[in-house]
Amino acid sequence: MLSKQKTMEAIEKMYQMFPEAHGELQHNNPYELLIAVILSAQATDVSVNKATPALFEAFPTPEDLAAASVEEIIPKIKTIGLYRNKAKNIKACAQQLIENFGGQVPTTREALVSLPGVGRKTANVVLGDAFGIPAIAVDTHVERVSKRLRICKLNASVLEVEETLMRKIPEDLWVKTHHTLIFFGRYHCTARNPRCEVCPLLDMCQEGKNRMKLHNKAKS
Ligand code: SF4
Repeated sequence: MLSKQKTMEAIEKMYQMFPEAHGELQHNNPYELLIAVILSAQATDVSVNKATPALFEAFPTPEDLAAASVEEIIPKIKTIGLYRNKAKNIKACAQQLIENFGGQVPTTREALVSLPGVGRKTANVVLGDAFGIPAIAVDTHVERVSKRLRICKLNASVLEVEETLMRKIPEDLWVKTHHTLIFFGRYHCTARNPRCEVCPLLDMCQEGKNRMKLHNKAKS
């Protein structure tokens, strides 16, 4: 596994590659971000961003969304995967925001995960991006990159990946690193075709070295 120092060296290189890394879900306030993150489960940020302007125009507050019927919500999010369940979840989430939190998005992980459709990953995105509270949300990109670089163990659970990253990275860099790992995984170390041959991290990446060996063997 990469040491704490080597992990930060790797992440510093990613910062240089993606200095503009940021959350890609469009939102104007914590309520909009919370709903957008719930909608983004098993869907792309692009598809969510296409749907949310009309959704939030129709239901600009938790009160509006809670008062809407599922049938009224569905047409606004029909282009996003799993829209029927998500319509139920975001309505129920808005209802609980009103009933339990005075219509405000709560600022603790414990309270956030009590909301329908909100797991630890969603809660961490909201904490970091809506409130600037240090958190690392582990999505498919963060998990894949962390494992390929052996920042964490290959058989680590999602929670273990998060805990390992939190141990190895200073807290004030958690949110920035979360976005950077996502950009690095989405645009460079992709699931199917990681760009190992031009990767500045190749010398510290066992997965990349293995892939390059296979690649060179296939060519010779
Ligand atoms: Fe990803 Fe390949 Fe770079 Fe390793 S060398 S981090 S597998 S792109």
